[in-house]
Amino acid sequence: MKISVIGSGVIGLTTAIALQEAGHEVHIFTKDLPEATVSAVAAAIWMPFHVEPLELVNRWSRVSYDVFEKMSEDTSSGVSMVNLLTLANSPDVPDWVDAMPAGRFWKAAASDLPAGYQHGFFARVPMIETPIYLPFLQKKFLENGGELTVCEVKSLAKMAMTPDWLINCTGLAAGKLTGDKAVFPIRGQILKVDPMPGLPYLADDDGPNALAYIFPRKDCTVLGGTAQLPLGGLSNDDESPNEEDSVGILRRCQNLLPALATAVVRSVAVGLRPGRTTIRLEREPATNIVHNYGHGGGGYTVSWGCAFEVVEQLRV
Ligand SMILES: Cc1cc2nc3c(=O)[nH]c(=O)nc-3n(C[C@H](O)[C@H](O)[C@H](O)COP(=O)(O)OP(=O)(O)OC[C@H]3O[C@@H](n4cnc5c(N)ncnc54)[C@H](O)[C@@H]3O)c2cc1C
Repeated sequence: MKISVIGSGVIGLTTAIALQEAGHEVHIFTKDLPEATVSAVAAAIWMPFHVEPLELVNRWSRVSYDVFEKMSEDTSSGVSMVNLLTLANSPDVPDWVDAMPAGRFWKAAASDLPAGYQHGFFARVPMIETPIYLPFLQKKFLENGGELTVCEVKSLAKMAMTPDWLINCTGLAAGKLTGDKAVFPIRGQILKVDPMPGLPYLADDDGPNALAYIFPRKDCTVLGGTAQLPLGGLSNDDESPNEEDSVGILRRCQNLLPALATAVVRSVAVGLRPGRTTIRLEREPATNIVHNYGHGGGGYTVSWGCAFEVVEQLRV
């Protein structure tokens, strides 16, 4: 079938490739090229974060885990398997453990923990270096015979008149495009410092330094972050870097890892995660439109599971 995908962030590209691999002819229409999307701002690590509903997210995350693990065998993909130390306030294991294969999650010893922490876990997870991974996906899509056109789609209904199916992967913009009031931004700011050899992968998302994460990559070390949700009905959708946020991120990351005291900030980036009460992955009744948006802070984590689910939706 001839299928149009709107959007070339991680969700659009992954969905497009899954559709091609199922035998379809796919054309992507996108306002921005992959390198200018929210997806390009992410670090990114496999871990569900501000994304619902739990049961489906865990199922889709598990599917993606397996795909990423296989991809990590190809060094050109930008995917590798790393040991992430997640710091916690309590010994309770996080919900996303259910989405991991057995034996990939273990309790950290007291000697592994930074000062001030009593609990932590190691998780063996995929790390996705976005400046490598997004071009890798784009290349794969084009090599599979896909076409990509840069344009802004104003009406899904009009756009859906030509192809057999239209897949909406417009992230945060889907809110306006479809009139969906359940979509909201979750503002994320990160710092990039020079790569430093031997740094561990660390995250604190509910402990005394939350939110803090340190993700070493080849091009830089990513220090995060913020997850600013709408407050009192007001969204923070400011895409410009905020100095106060930067100071806070650096301080919290240095608390976790004092070796970062000498780190020099090379750049600051902001992305608005496409938050939604739950991911919208469904066929719109009586149309040829399938929606795949609202992946919050876990778009990479669930990307392959959601893409295969779209393929399934077209079969029924
Ligand atoms: C700081 C930060 C850190 C993150 N870390 C992680 C992480 O560690 N792990 C993880 O899994 N996730 C992480 N995320 C979340 C992840 O980045 C998002 O969930 C994901 O990028 C969403 O992808 P998307 O393709 O839906 O949206 P986007 O990347 O925003 O792509 C949307 C696409 O739709 C196109 N578009 C929009 N409107 C139109 C239109 N009208 N016409 C045509 N095209 C249109 C855009 O041009 C773009 O190509 C992070 C996000 C941020 C900001």
